[in-house]
Amino acid sequence: MNTSNNHIGKVILAGAGPGDPELLTIKTLRWLQRADVVIVDRLVSPDILRYYTRPDAEIISVGKQNKSEASTSQSGINSLLVEHARAGRLVVRLKGGDVSIFSNVLDELQTLVRHQIPYELVPGITAALGAAAYAGIPLTAREHATAVRFLTGYRPDEIEETYWKELAQTADTLVFYMSSDPLDILVGHLVKHGIAEDRWVAVVEQATTPFQRVTAYPVRDYLAAAAGAQYASPTLIIIGKVAALHADFQWLPDSAGDAAYFPSLLKSTVIC
Ligand code: SAH
Repeated sequence: MNTSNNHIGKVILAGAGPGDPELLTIKTLRWLQRADVVIVDRLVSPDILRYYTRPDAEIISVGKQNKSEASTSQSGINSLLVEHARAGRLVVRLKGGDVSIFSNVLDELQTLVRHQIPYELVPGITAALGAAAYAGIPLTAREHATAVRFLTGYRPDEIEETYWKELAQTADTLVFYMSSDPLDILVGHLVKHGIAEDRWVAVVEQATTPFQRVTAYPVRDYLAAAAGAQYASPTLIIIGKVAALHADFQWLPDSAGDAAYFPSLLKSTVIC
């Protein structure tokens, strides 16, 4: 463990991007090269840790996998941040994708402020943007959509019927995080509320990694074609007229294999 006191203790809350290690920002790369301690989530490319951290940096993995798996609790993560920063270390808290999208960054910010620990936030490429680019799906393509929403259908029963109706009828592109397990339910609600026949659903598995695979159907055909399908984690769902553009603009071949890019992931929704 590096216990040098060369820096005032500080925490950098940074996004690592969605998978491809080259989607890391130069700013996060520079912080990683200086970090004494890296506290890292599950959905971070192992190559980023392998190549861009100091050989003597302490790497602490706190990733959550799913509801059933034990992982470091949020209060445990908060304590790690405080403990290492108070010891005068430069800590990078590295999260998958962007630091603020479907993450627990608020808890961590509150902890840092409460303990008067200096911090910086560094954005990352969120899964929606990585998946959209690597699947050839422009999220707000002209004459297709004028807005995009980042959502989760992780607990579909908590979404009001009136909101399902609104989602079925909007022209906005809908991007669902953490929603591959309940995908059939989600599609069922949209179909029930009369989603238009030109709306497609694109399921993007392991986006931006060598194992990326994209499956796309018109939403109304999805259940007949793919009900019960299991997808490799992590998976992102893009719904809207734009999802049909994948067929025209796909540039990355689908992976034939079933390997998992992120360490020890099971086939189920990743919860953040
Ligand atoms: N902060 C992250 C999101 C964390 S929530 C971000 O900005 O991207 C975790 C969910 O993100 C997963 O369940 C999945 O829906 C999505 N996700 C993250 N990385 C992904 C990837 N490489 N491919 C597909 N989906 C991904």
